[in-house]
Amino acid sequence: MVAAGDAVKQEVRAVPHAHEAGAVLAALDSSRHGLDPAEAAARLTRHGPNELPRPRPPGLATVFLRQFASPLIYVLLAAAVLSLAIEEWSDATFIFAVLFINAVIGTAQEYSAQRAASALQALVADQCRVLRAGESYVIDARELVPGDVLLLESGDRVPADGRLFQAHDLEADESQLTGESLPVIKDAAAVLAPETPLGDRRNMVYAGSLVLRGRAQAVVVHTGLDTELGRIASAVVGEAAAVGVAALVLAAVSLARGMPLSEVFLLAVALAVSAIPEGLPVALTVALAISMRRMARRHVIVRRLLAVEALGSCTFIATDKTGTLTVNQLTVRRIGLPDGRVWEVTGEGLAPEGRVLTSRGEPDADEERLLRRIALAAVLPNEGFLGQRDGHWVAGGDTVDVALLVLAHKVGVVREEALNANPELGLIPFESERLYAASLNRTPEGAQVFVKGAVERLLPMCTRMATPAGDEPLDRARVEAQVLALARDGYRVLALAAGDWPPGTPFEEARLGGLTFLGLLAMLDPLRPEAKAAVAACREAGIEVAMVTGDHPATALAIARELDLAREPAQVVTGVQLRRLGTGPELERVVLGARVFARVEPRQKLDIVHVLERAGHFVAVTGDGANDAPALRAAEVGVAMGKSGTDVARESADLIITDDNFASIVAGIEEGRIAYGNVRKVIYLLVSTGAAEIVLFGLALFTGLPLPLVAVQLLWLNLVTNGIQDVALAFEPGEGQELRRPPRPPREPIFDRLMLERLAAGALAIGVPAFLLFQYLLAQGYSVEEARNGTLLLMVLFENIHVFNCRSETRSVFRHSPLRNPLLLGGTVLAQLVHIGAMYTPGLSDVLGVQPVSPGHWLQLLAIALVVLAVMELHKLWWRWRTGGARTAS
Ligand code: ADP
Ligand code: MG
Repeated sequence: MVAAGDAVKQEVRAVPHAHEAGAVLAALDSSRHGLDPAEAAARLTRHGPNELPRPRPPGLATVFLRQFASPLIYVLLAAAVLSLAIEEWSDATFIFAVLFINAVIGTAQEYSAQRAASALQALVADQCRVLRAGESYVIDARELVPGDVLLLESGDRVPADGRLFQAHDLEADESQLTGESLPVIKDAAAVLAPETPLGDRRNMVYAGSLVLRGRAQAVVVHTGLDTELGRIASAVVGEAAAVGVAALVLAAVSLARGMPLSEVFLLAVALAVSAIPEGLPVALTVALAISMRRMARRHVIVRRLLAVEALGSCTFIATDKTGTLTVNQLTVRRIGLPDGRVWEVTGEGLAPEGRVLTSRGEPDADEERLLRRIALAAVLPNEGFLGQRDGHWVAGGDTVDVALLVLAHKVGVVREEALNANPELGLIPFESERLYAASLNRTPEGAQVFVKGAVERLLPMCTRMATPAGDEPLDRARVEAQVLALARDGYRVLALAAGDWPPGTPFEEARLGGLTFLGLLAMLDPLRPEAKAAVAACREAGIEVAMVTGDHPATALAIARELDLAREPAQVVTGVQLRRLGTGPELERVVLGARVFARVEPRQKLDIVHVLERAGHFVAVTGDGANDAPALRAAEVGVAMGKSGTDVARESADLIITDDNFASIVAGIEEGRIAYGNVRKVIYLLVSTGAAEIVLFGLALFTGLPLPLVAVQLLWLNLVTNGIQDVALAFEPGEGQELRRPPRPPREPIFDRLMLERLAAGALAIGVPAFLLFQYLLAQGYSVEEARNGTLLLMVLFENIHVFNCRSETRSVFRHSPLRNPLLLGGTVLAQLVHIGAMYTPGLSDVLGVQPVSPGHWLQLLAIALVVLAVMELHKLWWRWRTGGARTAS
């Protein structure tokens, strides 16, 4: 019998969409209240965590091999093979060694950068909400087990496959699974044929899909690899790619054949190595990865490496208000009655300790009755949670909802008790584009509807208004005036209404009407203490800031004024105005002039971003809801909120701000600008030294002298100088001026006027003296080998010194303590020591054609090498004089 029962359960679990929700719950030994926590733990050991095998990040070997995958390296390999062919053993060995060391350095850097990146991303773990033994918990999605009751709301990523048993207005995006891009409307009550295809199972939700709208409860049927997504995933994982190496060897061999070998060829290769900054990709990756780590310390998590640099060029931030500029801790301070009176509410924070005071003190019996009606309308269409755990008041859910629960508690109305006395028959949950929430409840007086939300939405539903003495016809103008007065003081204003519901009528938005207006609740949400300074920092950094909010224009303006973000009502644009402007010619002017966008629907954010970008702005936009995703994707920098943000928003964003704080975005911009600066510095170092080598060789060729360095020496030069220094340069801390200058023009080329001037100056200041030395030594009767020895040492010294010129493009070397970048200082000393060491190392010194020089000569060469320092200092001085200190000319 038991076996037969098990077989039935198994059948139900296999095709849950073909059974009633109740049967599915039973088959999973669960209930609408969820599993017992102990049972959930037991099942977790049985079923294992709810996760899919991730495609592993490339291993060390892959990263190492990847270092060879560049055309330049193929040429070098060809050169090495060629050297072997003509039995130039030492040259061949040396080239191989250089390649190998180069690859080792590159691997170490890239691998650690990669590990840092994936570690950071793991910080943003997936969470979900479940009901266990009747209580709601937020858990790590990996702890989900079959039988768990999953609570879903708009913006969530569905963490496992489940059978819906309750769904309000639920729409899901299942494109990841089915490829179908249209949202699917869900229906918990449906019972479908077993063979219904995945895309049509409207009573199910599947892992990997996104909740676009509505609320739902579902019982988890499958987790991890058993989910539909898991089945797809396990089919894909395990694909490898290691074809490149074979191609590489082939290319080298075919190049080696039929090519006449000569020193010129080797040299051409070596020169190409000098001129082409092959270390660049690695150095850039490292620069961005370092910045990523620095940003993480400042609460900015980067999901896309290039966003680091993009953030640095941002010229406009369109930011949310609630939670980003404000702390998102709302407290109801005032109650506006329909008759125009305003009552005060005392008490702070979550603790429901406080009272409501009328102008005469305690409310009388009639007033008390109205107050209870208001409280009921505040707690019934409410999805928040307020309770006591270990003697502390704790809350969950939407902060507006929580504030209402606290207020109601203060007047003795507790949501759970209110729900027991007035069971819920239906709910229209709050969504940002709807701007209100409504619930239908069975009250002792019959079915009644309760609504709370934006006053513009509620007033049209109302015909009457409540007063302590009884209901009267609605005085709309008076209510609107009261809303305006409260909003101008910076209060977030919520309207409440209630009314009878004719029995048998379905509970739908369109039917909400004929209600009684109950009053207004005015809530205060303090500004984040850092917000004002951060807005000011943006202004100094030439970045414009605008607030985009669903809130009332007067509330938004009051807050913007406090932040110094806006002054006049003319700087406020509402969603209705935007729609009226359409795509007309006025639109751009209005959007560019606005500092506050109020009562905008989330999808209008996308329009705002488009207008700004068309006007040439480089836009960073923040978002938290599911409907913010298009704007987050469209903007150059999409910023999602880590705490309040939904899964959908986080997955569409380039950056995640872990503390939801506007100031962190500004910190990110500063780091982004530092990163961009460092990228320029690295590029400058690599390109200018390469150019210097070409100047040296060019002059020698023109004047008919022998080649100043042999191929091996050139390779060595690049290895001991750039190979160590370029990456150290990527570690440069900021110069401290990053937020005090305008953003660079978004499409500014890297090789701008400043860069080109500096390249010319640097290349000549190194190349010419080195050539003159070489010429001088030959003229003095030194052998070519001895002259090369001196020239090589001078070049190493030059590049060692020049790296300090690279630390700032316009500021003097002497304003940057070398101790602020110990890696660079150490790297430079090391490079010098390695070279001197090589002079004394038998074998190596032969290959390199170097020999020891006397300390006196070393000092003389050092003195010559200081030329590059002097020349670059003079150029910086001249540039500052010409531009008044600006980094770029125009
Ligand atoms: P914001 O841009 O400040 O995050 P929201 O979209 O959260 O704006 O809110 C916009 C408006 O919707 C508010 O001014 C308020 O009138 C209404 N509102 C906000 N939260 C709720 C809620 N939980 N229930 C009902 N109405 C709400
Ligand atoms: Mg909000």
